[in-house]
Amino acid sequence: MKYTAYQPRTDLLKDKVILVTGASDGIGRTAALSYALHGATVVLHGRTLNKLEVIYDEIEKLGAPQPAILPLQLSSASTLEYETLYNTLEKQFGGLDGILHSAGILGSRLPLADYPIEIWDEVMAVNLRAPLLMTQALLPLLKKSQSASVIFTSSGVGREARALWGAYAVSKFGTEALSKIFAEENTEENIRFNCINPGATRTAMRAQAYPDEDPLTLPTSEALMPTYLYLMGEDSKHLNGESINAQ
Ligand code: NAP
Repeated sequence: MKYTAYQPRTDLLKDKVILVTGASDGIGRTAALSYALHGATVVLHGRTLNKLEVIYDEIEKLGAPQPAILPLQLSSASTLEYETLYNTLEKQFGGLDGILHSAGILGSRLPLADYPIEIWDEVMAVNLRAPLLMTQALLPLLKKSQSASVIFTSSGVGREARALWGAYAVSKFGTEALSKIFAEENTEENIRFNCINPGATRTAMRAQAYPDEDPLTLPTSEALMPTYLYLMGEDSKHLNGESINAQ
């Protein structure tokens, strides 16, 4: 089923606290803005503080609930840093109603035979290890929510591997499994875990993967928002362990 035609209520996410990783750019940035405009208090995660400050100001100017900023380098974040994150969120908000894991890196477009192991490790750390550690750490907070939604970001090459997609494809296959396993291990009615495949979208990552492509031929991140809102809001409460397309 497609959710591209979903029409969210303007207060869909009112009173919800939602953490968006990779909120400084691309799809995560657009989703953070969109969640805030639908009433959520958004915790803006990224690794570049000044980029996060720009989106923080944008959200404030729009009159949406005051967001929070969370700078964290995902390639090296320790379990201690995730514990600190848990304590900060608990102290500041008392709970958490959702996570959109959107941060990600592409790595190299090289055959596996030549794939540099240090880039492999970094891609796995950012795309796969970080969403696991963050979800593990914040699970007790999510379980306090009346209705929590965790969204992992996959890709077409996370369902069908293709040449030259190396660590990125392997990390996205892992992401699909991570989401499914969390879903099967947590069957309480108040929490759900799903995966989203944005599809080809006009962002910096896409331009890095396809430098010769005209970005104007691609959908913008805004075009994906009906599906991103659907999966974060209560209208998708019955979905757990699904992997859906945003286009
Ligand atoms: P993007 O524009 O490159 O944005 C990536 C985001 O992740 C940025 O906010 C970036 O922060 C953050 N990030 C990267 N490495 C990080 C690290 N080590 N620590 C903390 N934050 C880090 O990418 P996008 O195209 O929006 O992609 C969003 C998600 O969709 C990714 O998971 C991607 O794999 C997936 N996806 C995208 C497409 C597409 O066509 N665009 C297709 C399929 C799947 P900075 O701003 O500081 O760099």
